[in-house]
Amino acid sequence: MSSVKRHIEEEESKRQVAVGLLLEVGILENCERHEEIVFQSGAGDIEDAYKLANTKWADHSGIFTDRREMTDLILAESENGDYANDGCEICREQRTKD
Ligand SMILES: [Zn+2]
Repeated sequence: MSSVKRHIEEEESKRQVAVGLLLEVGILENCERHEEIVFQSGAGDIEDAYKLANTKWADHSGIFTDRREMTDLILAESENGDYANDGCEICREQRTKD
């Protein structure tokens, strides 16, 4: 595996951890019908995400350089424009069609 590819995979697994923590504290939400769809819930507290991340630090210390890198990524993902949809776009499209 090339080091570039490995780097991309590492970044992706870090992102998944951050998104997972944000889902757990309710800042991000999964569509109940489309689990691949993630969107901002408009609720939840970023401080709760940081606390949870610190509680679980031992699980994730292998992939992050330090806690700061993890909390920075949590903040970045909580503001990720990809999740700025108002609910699930697939469900919304289906509703518009009806
Ligand atoms: Zn949906």
